[in-house]
Formats: sequence, structure tokens, C-alpha cells
Amino acid sequence: MNRPAFADRLLQQQAQRLTGSLQRRLRTAQALRAGRIVIDRRELIDFGSNDYLGLAQHPQLLEALRGAATVGARASHLLGGHREEHAALEAALANWLGYPRALLFSTGYMAAIGSLFALLGRHDLCLQDRLNHACLLDGARLAGADLQRYEHLDVQDAARLLRCAPQRRALLVSDGVFSMDGDIAPLAPLAALAQRENAWLMVDEAHGLGVLGPQGRGACAALGLQAAEVPVLMGTLGKALGGFGAFIAGSELLIDTLINGARTYIYTTALPPALAQVLCVAVELARAADEPRAHLQQLIGHFRAGALHQGWSLLPSATPIQPLLIGDSAAALNLAQRLEAAGCYCPAVRPPTVPIGSARLRISLTAAHHITDVDHLLGALGAGSR
Ligand SMILES: *Cc1c(COP(=O)(O)O)cnc(C)c1O
Repeated sequence: MNRPAFADRLLQQQAQRLTGSLQRRLRTAQALRAGRIVIDRRELIDFGSNDYLGLAQHPQLLEALRGAATVGARASHLLGGHREEHAALEAALANWLGYPRALLFSTGYMAAIGSLFALLGRHDLCLQDRLNHACLLDGARLAGADLQRYEHLDVQDAARLLRCAPQRRALLVSDGVFSMDGDIAPLAPLAALAQRENAWLMVDEAHGLGVLGPQGRGACAALGLQAAEVPVLMGTLGKALGGFGAFIAGSELLIDTLINGARTYIYTTALPPALAQVLCVAVELARAADEPRAHLQQLIGHFRAGALHQGWSLLPSATPIQPLLIGDSAAALNLAQRLEAAGCYCPAVRPPTVPIGSARLRISLTAAHHITDVDHLLGALGAGSR
């Protein structure tokens, strides 16, 4: 028998990862207070989290968690698992964002895959920004749609692809804030293009929600875009909201379609009601967080000015995601290690999460940071050679 063995392949792939500085390893951390992380018994300033408003350990959220009556939902939404806590959270999200309805999913990954699967058919066109999050790309592939990726932020390229297929139903999909670059999609021209071409626009607000726009309603709201212009709005609850889970906001008809057709909604246990209860409080806190948002903007400005002054290549980002582009994976790892030795946790992000040759440190800022934390990071970046 000469059937190839799995172990041989896995060993070979592992060896390749090691030589390319692409091996990832888990590190076990404690997060005892906002803006800090404890790794290997050392407390570091945490520049790796998506907890942009510092809500994950907010006393009011912890109190709501302690007050919960049930942990698990015990069933899927459609078979008895849909609780008052879920309904209340969905209503709070819809109300916050100005949409007729919102539907909860267990994670953003599941929200993307399930909704794209429910919406798209085999002959539909799905146009996505080249740098969209993996879950959006996977969702279109899983649906068997004709997935075409346009150049990053390039509305002209998207328009060209749409014009090539005027007969086909089309969905334009974009991250609102790009998760590894921190830049914001050209949402207004994308919405205008979708309207002109009779297509739909779906925006993933994972990193915009809580951070951008009036009341933290996200990147779309910051540009004044409303439900009619962005018929499918996705948000996640594990980033600025400090919890876990995700949702799709849209029309009654869209939500009915998802309830009946999104497999990651139908065939899975509902989000823990305890978490939904906590997240209702998080929505209220995020809505009212104008001061933390202003502080965050101040930190962003301070970091960019300092890093540019030192000659680092920054990406054009006005959001808390501030990557330092390094290029080479080994060099990015080295820099991350040097910063860690100086007390700053700034994880390196390497291919395949980012395109080959664009390894970077993904520095993310949170309202829980003080200006002195950013100064500490700048000091560490400035010391020693680049
Ligand atoms: C984190 C993220 C997701 C996935 O959300 P989870 O709830 O963590 O599964 C989806 N889209 C983008 C842009 C993200 O950054």
C-alpha cells in the first residue's frame, strides 16, 4: 500500500512554517484590568485587543453577568432557545442603529457565513474588497456564488466588474473598517454604486461599531448612510462591545429570510441568555461613550504623530487599528519581541492573515489606555535600531 500518510504532510507543512517564520503558537494570558495583559507572569500594556472602549471588564457588565438567571439557552432559537434576553438585545441593537430589525448569531464568522449562504444563489455575483475579512470571503464561497474580488478600496474596479454582468443579481460586500489595515472603506461611493446598479450593499461593522459615528453607530452611520443604502449591516459584539456574539441588521424581509435560511442560525444553540443580558447593558454604555471615543481619537492622533516623527511606515488609518508595516515576517516577529521586552504587547500579524510580504505589528489602541501608555510604546519603538 502506498497511500500517503497525513502525518508526513503535517510534518512537512510545519517545517515550512518554521523556516518561513510563519509558525504561530498559542500563549496563555490573563487580562486582569483593561488595557493590560499578563503573559509569562509579566504585566504588559496590551496593544493587541479589540476592546476599543475598555468595556470587557466594565463593573456594570460584570454586575449584569452575576445577576443572570440562566447560563445556557438549552436549545436553538427556533426550538425554544429564543429568550426574552435575546429579544431585548435585538430590539436594543435595531433601535441603536436605526434598522427595522436585528438578528443575533453566535459569532461574526457565523453571521457572515450564514447570511451570505442564505442570500446568495449559484448564479449571483458577489463583489468583495480584496482585503475583506476571511468570514465574508468564505461565506460567498460556501454559497457557491460567483465571488469576484475588487482591488482594495477601488470603487471603479467594483463598478467595472458590475458592468460586466448587468443581468445578474449582485451583492457588494465590504468591511467598514479593515481589520488588519485600519482604513475605512469608501462606503458612500459604494452605496451610490449599489443603488445605481440595483445591487445590494452589505457592510461588516466589526471594527466600526462603538468606535465611529454618532453614538458609536459605526462607519456607515458616520457617513450618514441609512438602512435603505446599506440593506445588510453586520456587527459583532466581541470587539468594542466587550462581549461575544454578532448580529445582522436589516429589513423584516431580510431577517425572515435569515431565520429560515441561515444554516449557522438554524442549526446551532442560541447565544447564552446571560451574555445577551450583559450585552444589553454594553449597548447602552457604548451609545453613551462619547468621552471614551474622544479620548481614543486623541490617543490615535498622539500615536501617529509620534510614530511618523520616528520614521515608521504607518498605514492611512484614522481608527484604533494602527499597523506598523514591516514586510518581512522574521523582522516583524523580532520587533514584537523587542517591544514585549520593553513592556508592550503588540502581536505580529503575518501571512496568510495579511498578503505575502506585508507582515506587520497590529497595534490597537483602546480608550482604556492613557496617553502615557502611548508614550511608553513610542519610547520603546524609538529606542534601538529599526
Ligand atoms: C473579528 C471579525 C469578524 C468575526 O467576528 P467574531 O465574532 O470574532 O467571529 C468578522 N469580521 C471582521 C471584519 C472581524 O474583524
